[in-house]
Parts: sequence; C-alpha cells; structure tokens
Amino acid sequence: MADGKRVTIVGGGPVGALNACYLSKKGYIVDLYESRSDIRKTENAVGRSINLALSLRGIEALKEVGLDEKVKALGIPMRARMIHLVNGKCYPVPYGKSGQHLLSVDRMKLNRDVLSAASEFPNVDLHFNHKFVSCDLATAKSTFVKTSPQLPDKEEVTITSDAIFGCDGAHSAVRRQLQKRRFDYSQQYIPHGYKELTIPPTEDGKYAMPANYLHIWPRHEFMLIALPNQDMSFTCTLFMAFSIFDTLTTEQKVLDFFREVFPSAVDLIGEELLKTDFFLLPPLPMVTVKASPYHYKDKVVLFGDAAHACVPFYGQGLNAGLEDVLVFHEILEKHNYAFDVAFSAFSEQRSKDGHAVADLSHQNYIEMRSSVTSSWFLFRKKVDSL
Ligand code: FAD
Repeated sequence: MADGKRVTIVGGGPVGALNACYLSKKGYIVDLYESRSDIRKTENAVGRSINLALSLRGIEALKEVGLDEKVKALGIPMRARMIHLVNGKCYPVPYGKSGQHLLSVDRMKLNRDVLSAASEFPNVDLHFNHKFVSCDLATAKSTFVKTSPQLPDKEEVTITSDAIFGCDGAHSAVRRQLQKRRFDYSQQYIPHGYKELTIPPTEDGKYAMPANYLHIWPRHEFMLIALPNQDMSFTCTLFMAFSIFDTLTTEQKVLDFFREVFPSAVDLIGEELLKTDFFLLPPLPMVTVKASPYHYKDKVVLFGDAAHACVPFYGQGLNAGLEDVLVFHEILEKHNYAFDVAFSAFSEQRSKDGHAVADLSHQNYIEMRSSVTSSWFLFRKKVDSL
C-alpha cells in the first residue's frame, strides 16, 4: 500500500511521533527529524507546561497504535472542574455525565512513550539534533542543520523523500515554506501570558487538594488552574495579562497579590516556594495560528500546532493534533494511498476543524476566567451567602 515510499516527518513532538507510528504501520519508510536531543535521555525541560488534559479525542488516536491503555493507566481522571472562590469556598462543575472525565497526563512522559513506540518499528528512523531549515516544495527535498553541541559548524544535511509532514509546532519552519505560495495565514497573540507554579504534596505525602478535579481560581482578569500529577503534586498555571505580570517585580508584591486574589492557593503552594517559583522564568506567550490550505500538492502537509496552534483554554490543542493523525489516515485509506488526493481532502476537512478549535479556545479564554462562575454564581450566591 505504501509502495516503498519514503516520507520525512519534521518534529518529534507527540503529533510527529504518533504520525511516525501510523505511517510505518502502513509500510512507509519513515525518517523523523527533531531539532532537540532525545528527550527520553534528558531531564524534563523547565518552563514547558508539565501536564495537560487529554480527552477522548486524543485517546482514540492513541488507541490505533496501542498506546491508549498505557496513557490511561498513568493519567489521573479529572471528573469535574473545582471552582475556588476568593473566600476559600469551592464547588464542582461536572464536565459531562457521570463516568465521563478528562485525564491529567505528564506531557513529557506522553511524548517519550509515543517516541518509544515509533522507535520500535523497523521502518522508522529517529534523527535527533536535526533542525529543519528549508525545503524545495516541488521535489520535497529538505535541508536540516545538525544542532548537536558537539558540532559547532552546524553541518548541513539534505534529504530527499516523497513527502514532508510538518509536525514542528506553533512556530513551524515547514509552514514558513508554504507561506511562499498561495497560502492564507494568520497569527494572533493574546495579551495574557502564563507561568507555572507547583503545589507540593502535604508533609505526609498526600495530595493537598482532592486529586480528581481540574482546579480553577477564576478571577475575570486573570486565572489560576491546577492539574494533578502522579507524584501527589499539582502543577498550577497562572494566566494573566503581561501588563500585570510586569507590575509584580518583588517577592513582597507577589505575596500581596496572591494573598488578595488567590489566598487559598498561597496556603497550598507555600510562601517560600511561591516566591522562588514565580521568579524562575518570565511569563510565556500564547498564540493562535490559522492556516489554509494545510498542504502543497502531494509534497507537504501540516499537522498539529504547525497547522492550528490555539490558546490552551479549551484543552484541545494536542487532542486536536493527535486527531489530525487519525483523520488523515482514514482519508489516506479512503483514497487508496494517493497523497495528492488525500492531502487535499485532509486539508479541506481539517482546516475548517482547526479554525473551529481555535475560535472555541479563544471563547473559552473568556469563559474560564469569568463565565464559568456566572450561572453557578447566581445559584451559589444564595447557598453560600457570599
Ligand atoms: P509540539 O509539541 O510543539 O512539538 C513540535 C516538535 O517539533 C518539538 O519537539 C520541537 O522541538 C520540534 N521542532 C520545532 N521546530 C523544528 C525544526 N525546525 N526542525 C525540527 N524539529 C522542530 N493541549 C491539550 O490538548 N490539552 C491541554 O490541557 C493543553 N494544555 C496546554 C497548556 C499550555 C500552557 C500550553 C502552552 C499548551 C497546551 N496545550 C494543551 C496545547 C499542546 O501543548 C499543543 O497543542 C501540543 O503540544 C502540540 O503538539 P505538536 O506535536 O503539534 O507540537
């Protein structure tokens, strides 16, 4: 079915690695190039979001290569949102029917597991420390530079294959190549940035809050969320306008701010850890990317954040990226493995979905900070005499 075709995947994130599994199962000869070193051999990167919410959409895509059970076993079910009010009171807002939940998974572990699954296929070669620089769209010939610290000269490598799959994230270099053609593209940064903090386990090694929730401290202008980790800690993400981050320049200002708006979180994080973690890294930006089409003839196609990066408030960025892989392979089969028709059909279908996820994520940016409390707020106002 693959007729000995050789394909190049750019990016060894979860989407690129999953795509390598799917393509190799179909018999393609797969070369995956990743600019970083092998994350299975390194410590967790500081500052990148540590855990994420995986939903059915992403789990279904992992199922096809037998990774769903592994991920489910290590994920922590989050059955509802737990809303934390300023006065310290909390109440749950269920996600759906009883039995439905999201999974809090370790992002790095997920990425490592999918890379390991890909490396087990005899027809997949993983090339780390290779950064994609450019390609010839007409021939799918691509150029990489080796990024290993042992190679100061940045040696160049040119690869020829039948097609290039751009899975290289929100700032995709493959997408930049498509931008030279008739290609619609927009990117929008929101005024908010994010910063990660940690709620450590209690002294007796337990979770400091009920574990099976996505905890939210919605405060309209800003918001704190916390997802549970396997080691009994929670990773918190503070979303806030850069202009407010800019005012929090001293430890005392940070403490005063948290005591005023997130008092319960200060007790959970602990003042000392809050002061250290807050100044560890600058806040990071969030971008929405919309592109169309996602492909160039039968030579290049974009998946995941490279095609449709979105702000994280809908918790669907990676889920949608993993689903790209599932949907693409259904389309590929339907069109008898003809890349030209399949790339075009995938692009047509998925760019609409990608735009929709981006818009929904943006709407939820407002919803999570405020409206999530509104209907319940009216109800609880009576109950809790706020
Ligand atoms: P990436 O994970 O960005 O991987 C791209 C890979 O390509 C990287 O390994 C990179 O090193 C490599 N690369 C980049 N450039 C090159 C190059 N030139 N050459 C070679 N390799 C290259 N999504 C969810 O579904 N649920 C959540 O709860 C969630 N929470 C989030 C929270 C935050 C704070 C943020 C910022 C995002 C969140 N997301 C979430 C979104 C999710 O992180 C992304 O959608 C997902 O990581 C996209 O996967 P990807 O494989 O397409 O891209």
